[in-house]
Amino acid sequence: MYCIFCKILSGEAPADIIYRDEQVTAFRDIHPIAKTHILIIPNRHIDSVNALEPGDEALLGQMVMLAKELAAKEGVAEHGYRLMINTGVHGGQTVPHLHLHLIAGKLARFLLG
Ligand code: 5GP
Ligand code: ZN
Repeated sequence: MYCIFCKILSGEAPADIIYRDEQVTAFRDIHPIAKTHILIIPNRHIDSVNALEPGDEALLGQMVMLAKELAAKEGVAEHGYRLMINTGVHGGQTVPHLHLHLIAGKLARFLLG
């Protein structure tokens, strides 16, 4: 199965990677919809929230904690940001590898889609 985010993880596809550890990786969205738009993904391929299993709780916690740290690093923590996980077609998910959007900047306030 072809997965662009797995290609980014393996280095076969380029990306502006800003953080990586054994469990999670963060890189900048190729089509940012606000000044700060970062994607946080598990290093293991998981299709979506629907595919999460018991035992994945810590992984999700790491994704959110990393979002918090990156928001501080980007200087957007004080004014705020949006964390978003789209799931499935009706949820607006276009890449079938679980990802948490960290979106910040004035526009983030109006992004309700
Ligand atoms: P979704 O719509 O699935 O919640 O979000 C997918 C996100 O991945 C979109 O914001 C899209 O711009 C981003 N994206 C898709 N392909 C690539 C890519 O090859 N590189 C990067 N950096 N972002 C991508
Ligand atoms: Zn993948």
